[in-house]
Amino acid sequence: MSKNRGSNQRHGYFRCSDCRQGWESSHVYVKNNGQFPEQVQFGQECGNCIKECKPYRLEKLRCSMCHQQRCVCEDKRHNEPNKGHRSDLCLRCKSGRPCVQN
Ligand SMILES: [Zn+2]
Ligand SMILES: [Zn+2]
Ligand SMILES: [Zn+2]
Repeated sequence: MSKNRGSNQRHGYFRCSDCRQGWESSHVYVKNNGQFPEQVQFGQECGNCIKECKPYRLEKLRCSMCHQQRCVCEDKRHNEPNKGHRSDLCLRCKSGRPCVQN
């Protein structure tokens, strides 16, 4: 579950077209892993206007500490991509497939 290699999970950059608020999420999943252009399965809602947005940019997941796509940290336990996920704004979570398992 936490393996990033070959994963269809992406880090997405969002910007609301209405209020221009920007945010990022590590819980963006693509339908066609490995093919371009990649298509996201679920958008996320803007926290201000609850408008559904799709990311304008996708990246492979990076480590939250060293910011490398291939983590170079000695201690990899710091890597907590589930921290701070806004399930209330995530359409994937709302669809009944929560990104973050408790
Ligand atoms: Zn907005
Ligand atoms: Zn790292
Ligand atoms: Zn989610």
